[in-house]
Amino acid sequence: LITTPNNGSEPTEPAFRRLTDEDLAGRTAYNQPTHSHSNTDRLREADFASRLDAFLQEEGAVAFVRMSQRDGALLHGTGSGYRMDDQRRTPGFELAAEDYRRLARLAQTDAAPALELMSEVRFHEEDLNANNILADIPGTSRSGEYVMAGAHLDSWVASDGAVDNAAGSVVVMEAARILRALGVRPKRTIRFALWNGEEQGLWGSLAYVDKYLATRAPLGDAQLDALPNNRTWRARWPIQPRDGHGDLVAYFNMDNGSGRIRGINAEGNIAAAAVFEEWFA
Ligand SMILES: [Zn+2]
Repeated sequence: LITTPNNGSEPTEPAFRRLTDEDLAGRTAYNQPTHSHSNTDRLREADFASRLDAFLQEEGAVAFVRMSQRDGALLHGTGSGYRMDDQRRTPGFELAAEDYRRLARLAQTDAAPALELMSEVRFHEEDLNANNILADIPGTSRSGEYVMAGAHLDSWVASDGAVDNAAGSVVVMEAARILRALGVRPKRTIRFALWNGEEQGLWGSLAYVDKYLATRAPLGDAQLDALPNNRTWRARWPIQPRDGHGDLVAYFNMDNGSGRIRGINAEGNIAAAAVFEEWFA
């Protein structure tokens, strides 16, 4: 059991609630981001999963069990190795928090429990690529420029992916269908994107950005620069625009779960907020 059990208990309140209009109205503050070297410190700890695996192997563990981060019988699920050259040897399981705590309590009694574990997972090795899906409605007079709408096609391990992010993918496809059905002839090209590999670290969209829009300079630290592109992306500076950077006029991303759209989140892009305010006015 690799998590130190906490003193939580089953909650009486639901884990989530719908935000009120007042809640949303209070979410307009923009906090200036600060660059911190702790970003790169965290990168140096990023191989913890492989060190944990080595430790568990050394201890002779046949499997490990971790405690869910949330109460209320909710499971989170996590993955740590997905590359063919970066696999863990110890199978892992996640238990609902109270089930885990009970197990930990039992383990301290004379009647220590025996666990029977069944794991039916495998690597899909048939196709190791994550493929983006792109579709254009060509522009008429300014077809070199484009507006984009996107969502991600893949999903996280502990669910069927309906909310994160099949719902967003459906919205993007439906927007494309409606515009086609209306016979819209936009000045600029409208490009629809369903990204893949998002949950492994924004691979699909990052590859698009890196290839067509902008790249980032290496950190100049051999150890960190050997890490995969997505791990160090945010810590690198300056951004170096590519030739196609000016062609993209706007990008609308849909990855905020299902349900009625109740606003547009600027995602920290303060310049976009002013543009939207003007449009809405
Ligand atoms: Zn998502």
